[in-house]
Amino acid sequence: MRCPWGDRPCYRIRTVPEAAPRRPVGPHHPAPALKIAILGAGISGLALARFLVEGGVALADLTLFEAAPVAGGLCRSKTVDGFTYDRAGGHVLYSKDAAAMQWMKDCAGGDAAFVKKDRNTRIRFGDRWVHYPFENGLSDLPPQANYECVTGYVKAWHERLMDGSAAPADFGSWVRWRFGDGIADHFMDPYNEKVWKRDLAFLTSDWVAGRVPDAPIEDVLRSAVGIRTEGYTHQSIFFYPQHGGFQAITDGIASSLETRILFSTPVTDVVKSGTSWRVNGEEFDLVVSTLSLTLLPDIVADMPTGVADAMRRLEYNSLVCVLIALDRPEHPDLSWIYLPHANQGPANRVTYMSNYAPGNAPAGQTSLMAEVTWRGGEQPPGAELTDAIVDGLVQAGLLTRDEILFTDRSEVPQAYVVFDHDYARKRSAALGWLESQGLHTLGRFARFEYDNSDQCVIKARELAASLLAACSS
Ligand SMILES: Cc1cc2nc3c(=O)[nH]c(=O)nc-3n(C[C@H](O)[C@H](O)[C@H](O)COP(=O)(O)OP(=O)(O)OC[C@H]3O[C@@H](n4cnc5c(N)ncnc54)[C@H](O)[C@@H]3O)c2cc1C
Repeated sequence: MRCPWGDRPCYRIRTVPEAAPRRPVGPHHPAPALKIAILGAGISGLALARFLVEGGVALADLTLFEAAPVAGGLCRSKTVDGFTYDRAGGHVLYSKDAAAMQWMKDCAGGDAAFVKKDRNTRIRFGDRWVHYPFENGLSDLPPQANYECVTGYVKAWHERLMDGSAAPADFGSWVRWRFGDGIADHFMDPYNEKVWKRDLAFLTSDWVAGRVPDAPIEDVLRSAVGIRTEGYTHQSIFFYPQHGGFQAITDGIASSLETRILFSTPVTDVVKSGTSWRVNGEEFDLVVSTLSLTLLPDIVADMPTGVADAMRRLEYNSLVCVLIALDRPEHPDLSWIYLPHANQGPANRVTYMSNYAPGNAPAGQTSLMAEVTWRGGEQPPGAELTDAIVDGLVQAGLLTRDEILFTDRSEVPQAYVVFDHDYARKRSAALGWLESQGLHTLGRFARFEYDNSDQCVIKARELAASLLAACSS
């Protein structure tokens, strides 16, 4: 990698190790006046800034531009009358990368600042609670549905074995090829149509790798006759901040950077000028964007039409979250549940926010949070949506109307990347051009990937290391 600072003086610093110790900037480590702009102060931008500082970059040389008055982006939480909820859907902390997860915890006060929870998730099916993943909970279903699911699963398994067919490219066909008709009809189709708001043939099956649990047939047969099997152990334990919601993590990361974050300062203008950049008119040597690719055609100058078109056509879903504060002393010990069916209202998932941490609700009261996705770029319904959500949850037996203290609504314009059949071409046209310009990208919508916050931190650590290494050789 070429030194991102071109011919200008470089930091003589080592690569950021997995857990980088702080290195003081002092007389032995003079900080040259090289300016770095980070666009966006969500967890990606914040983590990158922290890793650069931990690697030796002087804080004064960093500027974070943030459109919102608060840092955190999709990790932000909101507190209303003592009830805290995550504004972009229920967030929990877990990671396969222990160092990254510990770093996140340490930034937010260490282990003692977190609650450790066993994940307990269910699918609401009529008046039953079905273990998640669905194919590991078949014996929780009514007998007829169990029979349809297990025969469909066996038929699909047998057909795959006999004809050796490759995985179909569209998600709708893939579901039937992989799980069979019973599971498709009873859960996968209705649930995924609620989340994606599109015909499932519109989506590719590529995105499912590693995200949709893939149970061996023996486990499905055991589960159908009532022998418990755990299908998805990755998140079986998670962590959540004691106070302040998930945002406590980004607040912690931001705490040492606050003097360098320009809040309420949307980036409107990024112009390349020789080997440097101007951001909102100010000159920088290096720019890292964590902003959504879909925003860049209106921000980055001199973008070819084909690239701008590819960015604008990337598909995504928005999200409406509704907190429901309840005058009820306790809930069942659930983490979150899935609501696949239309008669359960528009919400696809409900998080038991007050079960996550004692700080999420006043003593003796509880809360739920319902999530409803929306097709990106379209306007979600107004107040009637909350009514429809509540009606659905009453119908599903989760609450009664007279328990409700109040509701509160948040919206995020971009929540889910939608993997349509042209996704890979559009994304590589966008990222290829940005790379050719030397504009770095990092983050969920900046790279249009289905990344969780820990993956944003891991990728920020990698990018910091490669930027620093490029200058240290
Ligand atoms: C429903 C849902 C559930 C999730 N659950 C989990 C979970 O359980 N665990 C987990 O770890 N992760 C979870 N995630 C993923 C996690 O929220 C994201 O991976 C992470 O927050 C992305 O961070 P980011 O910094 O890349 O992007 P963002 O958070 O989107 O940050 C981008 C920042 O740029 C700012 N910005 C936008 N436009 C401009 C502009 N013009 N100028 C300046 N600033 C601008 C925004 O305000 C924002 O602060 C979930 C996400 C969703 C949607």
